[in-house]
Amino acid sequence: MLYETVIGLEVHVQLKTASKLFCGCSTQFGALPNTQVCPVCLGFPGTLPVLNEKALTYAVMTGLALGSEIAKESKFDRKNYFYPDLPKAYQISQYDKPICVGGEVPVDIDGIKKSIRLTRIHLEEDAGKLVHFTRDSGVDYNRGGVPLVEIVSEPDLRSPKEAYEYLRSLKSILEYLDVSDCNMEEGSLRCDANVSLRPVGTEAFGTKAEIKNLNSFRNVEKAIIYEIERQKKILEDGGRIIQETRLWDQDQSLTRSMRSKEEAHDYRYFPEPDLVAISIPLEKIEFLKKNLPELPHIRCDRFMKEYGLSQYDAEVLTAEKNLADFFEKGAHCSKNAKALGNWIMGDLMRELKLKNLNISQSPVSVDALIELVELIEVGKISGKMAKDVFMNMFGEGQSPKDIVQSKGLSQLSDASELESVVKKVIQENPKSVEDYRSGKKNAITYLVGQVMKVTKGRANPKLVNELLEKEL
Ligand SMILES: [Zn+2]
Repeated sequence: MLYETVIGLEVHVQLKTASKLFCGCSTQFGALPNTQVCPVCLGFPGTLPVLNEKALTYAVMTGLALGSEIAKESKFDRKNYFYPDLPKAYQISQYDKPICVGGEVPVDIDGIKKSIRLTRIHLEEDAGKLVHFTRDSGVDYNRGGVPLVEIVSEPDLRSPKEAYEYLRSLKSILEYLDVSDCNMEEGSLRCDANVSLRPVGTEAFGTKAEIKNLNSFRNVEKAIIYEIERQKKILEDGGRIIQETRLWDQDQSLTRSMRSKEEAHDYRYFPEPDLVAISIPLEKIEFLKKNLPELPHIRCDRFMKEYGLSQYDAEVLTAEKNLADFFEKGAHCSKNAKALGNWIMGDLMRELKLKNLNISQSPVSVDALIELVELIEVGKISGKMAKDVFMNMFGEGQSPKDIVQSKGLSQLSDASELESVVKKVIQENPKSVEDYRSGKKNAITYLVGQVMKVTKGRANPKLVNELLEKEL
């Protein structure tokens, strides 16, 4: 039987606020355990949570950018469960009245545009972190109370590739909004995937498994691929999928059962009595809507129009906000934005990747790249020489002009200087000269090559051709 894959994703995004969701503790990553805690986020009796206005604003911005409806009234609920990383024995989250309802994420799968619907986006606090040692375990509550938005998709995704592209698109939008740093290594963006199979042509959903612990986009893709095969095998053997939570084991590249539905938590949600209902004034929503930053797909269209880039180039250059900013800073003052884009996407990105650097850490500034492009344009150096100059720029951080000067790399475009070389080459290669004169026009290529050799590649090939033709 042929099966169709049905995937829904739940993404947790840490909002970029300086303090936690309900108290003034710092959210700085990497501090010593339990140094960023207070009675509120440690859940001491008698303490009261106070909502962080900025986190609320960021959640609304996220909803607006993704086309969600912003709820006129929203409230917080207690999600009850007992676990050592949760000092209050409940998490403050949202249940029946989330802050944003609906929305969609635009996804481009090999040139085909698709829109993945969202169920909801809600605000919640993060839990602490368990740290396991050889003989015992500890809890670090620094992360407890850090603001998150949970973005829940409809089961609209049909392949591991679509899931990957969905996450990429979502991350790019969040980065443009500047509401999160989206750093997966530090846990600012985490993802759970719900995966099920159903026979092609049927409507009813199959039983799903939820995969947790996915800490990179590649792992999301790999875990789903594994899960599809696992479920397919069970179904083909006549078995039944059980609803359960599975963990992705990165080292062994497989998912393993964590708990089945029977053991699953019953959260017993109830309204959080210590926080008033949230009602966001319409003027505030309108203001935020009007002041949303330019989003990736809009910037992509603009790059095509404004700088004459191809769709592909514009997509590559706008996928990451920092990269788009880097390019645009230079494109404003460069006479050849297209060439500048090519240097960024080609040589610069290749070298950055090799050195494991991101664009903000680039040893080559965009101004230096503009200078390099101009040196080629005016014929001072050839495209081939420029590659060497670029490697020097990347390695030593010098300006291209200085490198050209100190290495004597500039192209020989002076006819009087080249004439003597041309004459000498003609004198030393009578055979080729004779061939040329007797009609074998191709023989000139050899002579051009000889001139290039003598000048160590610095001669302007076009000029050499002209001079040779004149002399012959
Ligand atoms: Zn606190």
